[in-house]
Amino acid sequence: MRVNTLKRVAVAFALALPGAAIAAVVAAPAAHADGCYTWNRTLTQGRSGDDVRQLQIRIAGWAGHRDIVKNDGRYGPKTAAAVKRFQQAYGLRADGIAGPQTYTKLYQLQDNDCTPAHFSYSELDNGCGGSGWSGGPLSASQTKQNALRTMWKLEALRKSLGDKPLYVSSGFRSRACNNQVGGASDSQHLYGNAADVTSRTSSLCQVARDARDNGFSGIYGPGYPDHDDHVHVDSRRENNSDSSSNTTSWSAPDCGIGAGND
Ligand SMILES: [Zn+2]
Repeated sequence: MRVNTLKRVAVAFALALPGAAIAAVVAAPAAHADGCYTWNRTLTQGRSGDDVRQLQIRIAGWAGHRDIVKNDGRYGPKTAAAVKRFQQAYGLRADGIAGPQTYTKLYQLQDNDCTPAHFSYSELDNGCGGSGWSGGPLSASQTKQNALRTMWKLEALRKSLGDKPLYVSSGFRSRACNNQVGGASDSQHLYGNAADVTSRTSSLCQVARDARDNGFSGIYGPGYPDHDDHVHVDSRRENNSDSSSNTTSWSAPDCGIGAGND
């Protein structure tokens, strides 16, 4: 009798444990992100600060057709519109306000090192075998920061293509690497500002067409010399260190993309 009672108590206690653990998780305060970044306030138009700048890095890929979201730390109409598109893409309430539901999704998408879920620093720093972001015209940290912004735009492009993998065949290139592969002398690849991508599920033309809505101001694809086997995307409009003007430039004649017809 006594043994049975003890047994029942032990069983009841064991059964109670999972429930107790779940209750504790539910009652805990809103989950913090990870080792990267945590937002502490709801952001709306008119706000400014580093938290806005951090948000802009992550939603710049939802800038809309032929547009960009400046990484200026000011929550203006373009930031709000991009947040809204991000929310729509991920099935959230689309109000253009960055609050708990938006942050929760961003936390899900970002890794501890701040890269988006489906891209990594090692993937972008693969030029001629990787160089630790050095050997280009910018400091290693500036170059790495540009690569991070490039990756968040790629994450948006990937999402808009149906959440299917995009493969980066060339990201950052040091000057030596760029010379070795015959890149343009002032290539955006030197700045960590560009990626050459391929897909196994979307045509290159589809990738190039979609990229026009994902904050990329430089796009070269099929029909443009040496771009029949990949699509090049970059953020030249935001690059104030190169010698080119801050304007949009894209060309993929075989896809109907070019000056005047996009
Ligand atoms: Zn390229």
